[in-house]
Amino acid sequence: MDEVRKGIFVETKTHGCNPAYVITSDGVVVIDTPQLPTKAVKMYEEAKAHGAIKYIINTELHIDHIFGNYYFQDVEHIISHQATFDGFMVPDPGFDPFDYAHDAIPRSDPEGEKLFPSREDYFANPHKPDITIDGDATLRVGNKTFQLIHTPGHTPGQLAVVIPEDKIAFVGDTLFHGCQTWLHASNVDQWLESLDKLLDLDVDIIVPGHGPVCNKQEIYVQRAFLMEWVSTIAVAVGKGWSKEKCFKEISFLDRFPVDIGQEYMGETVTRNNINSLYDKLTVKMPVMKKL
Ligand SMILES: [Zn+2]
Repeated sequence: MDEVRKGIFVETKTHGCNPAYVITSDGVVVIDTPQLPTKAVKMYEEAKAHGAIKYIINTELHIDHIFGNYYFQDVEHIISHQATFDGFMVPDPGFDPFDYAHDAIPRSDPEGEKLFPSREDYFANPHKPDITIDGDATLRVGNKTFQLIHTPGHTPGQLAVVIPEDKIAFVGDTLFHGCQTWLHASNVDQWLESLDKLLDLDVDIIVPGHGPVCNKQEIYVQRAFLMEWVSTIAVAVGKGWSKEKCFKEISFLDRFPVDIGQEYMGETVTRNNINSLYDKLTVKMPVMKKL
C-alpha cells in the first residue's frame, strides 16, 4: 500500500476499490475493505500492526467496498449511510453479489479460494455496519477528525470521508479516475451536485474510489464524462434510437480502460450505463430528478 500522507495508507493497484487505513493517536480507522480475500486479510494484519482497528467506514454498498468486512470480524464498529446498510449484499434481479464476489477469485485471487467462505458462513455474519447515518456526521478518533459527507449519485448512500488535519478526502466512487465510470445504480443529477460539494472541500489530495490518487482537477473530468454520457443518450433518444441501437452504436471504451482486474467488463459497463440512462431519458423532463 502507498503512504499518501504520514500514517495514511491507500491501495490503488488491485482488483476492486481503493481501500485505505488511517493511523490516529488512538487506533486505526479503515475506509472500505478489500474485495479479494488475500488482500483483505493482508490489510487487516497490516493495519492492526499499528494499533487496534477502531472503526471501518463503508463509503457505499457495492461489493468491492464491503465484502472484505467479513475478514475484519473483531472490529466492533462499522459506519455507513443507512442506504448502504439497507442494500448490503442484497441481490438485484439477475445479480447475486455473493456469486459476483466468488466469480473474481479464480481470475484475480486464486490463493483466496481457501479463505472464501461458504454462502452459509458468510451470511451468518457478513459484518454489516452497526452505526448508520442519514446525512453528514463527524467522527473523532485520537488526533484525527473524520468528516463523513453524504454525496449521493453513484449510489444513494454514498459517503465521502474528509480528514481536515491532512487536507485529504476519500471520495469513493463519486470519482473514477482514469477508468470507466459505473452508472448502473446512479442518479446523475445527484452525482453532479455531489461533485460540486467536493469542489468546495479544502483538500490537496483526493483518493478516488478507483484509479490513482489525484487532486481536485479530476472532479472536472468526472463531471464532463457524466455530462457527456447523459447528453449522448439524450441525443440518441431525440433521434428515436431504440435501446438496442444505442447498445450497437454507443461506446466510450476508447476513452478509458475498465479498472484493474475488470478489463474484460467493458461491454458490460457500457450496456449497464446505457440501460440506466436510457430508461430515465425516455420519460418526461426534468428526467434525471425523478429518481
Ligand atoms: Zn461502486
